[in-house]
Amino acid sequence: MRDCTGKEICEEWLYHLDIPEDQIEELASTSANTVPCMMPYITAFFMPRAQGDRPLVVPEGAVNFAFIGQFAETPRDTIFTTEYSMRTGMEAVYTLLDIDRGVPEVWGSAFDLRCLLNATVLLRDGKPASDMNMSLIEKLLLSKGISAVQGTDIYNLLEEFKVIEPSDDDTAASKPATGAVWPGIH
Ligand SMILES: Cc1cc2nc3c(=O)[nH]c(=O)nc-3n(C[C@H](O)[C@H](O)[C@H](O)COP(=O)(O)OP(=O)(O)OC[C@H]3O[C@@H](n4cnc5c(N)ncnc54)[C@H](O)[C@@H]3O)c2cc1C
Repeated sequence: MRDCTGKEICEEWLYHLDIPEDQIEELASTSANTVPCMMPYITAFFMPRAQGDRPLVVPEGAVNFAFIGQFAETPRDTIFTTEYSMRTGMEAVYTLLDIDRGVPEVWGSAFDLRCLLNATVLLRDGKPASDMNMSLIEKLLLSKGISAVQGTDIYNLLEEFKVIEPSDDDTAASKPATGAVWPGIH
């Protein structure tokens, strides 16, 4: 990336947006002005780390100091978001001043089936999992599995999150309103 021109970065981006390939060069040349810039601070957030590399918000035994922000460790959360920094600040104040208030919960996306199904499809550029390269036996097993759950909430979830292709005769059960979303950073 470091060696790319702005036009090349723009072309790459347009490709990922599914712009027809025969229009990409023209659009990147005449319709956009892309100025490359480095974002070292964002990269630092995501450097590999192990438990213990970053101090706990309130280290054991600390009574009058704490660590806040992206390079302090708080349970369950994942760094990067402003929420993470806010949580560390709240945790620091509530712990040191012994204030009986809960820090807002971390959304347990890793344990939320809807989120995992959504991510499965997004990782495949929106293509259903049933569209993966599979051997004949795998395809048969998948089709058997899908038939077995047809008419259940599991089937509805798979369909709602587009993990499987929607079937024409799918009227069996009512759809749960789980709200599939395209995740982003807000
Ligand atoms: C490019 C980019 C995009 C991002 N997008 C999003 C997003 O969409 N959503 C989201 O939730 N988060 C996003 N983030 C992350 C978010 O911006 C940070 O997690 C958040 O700003 C961290 O807040 P903070 O108060 O902990 O630290 P900072 O905002 O980094 O504040 C630390 C402050 O301390 C000051 N400072 C440092 N050293 C000293 C010193 N020795 N003495 C005095 N002051 C000092 C710094 O100047 C700075 O003002 C993004 C970050 C980047 C870099």
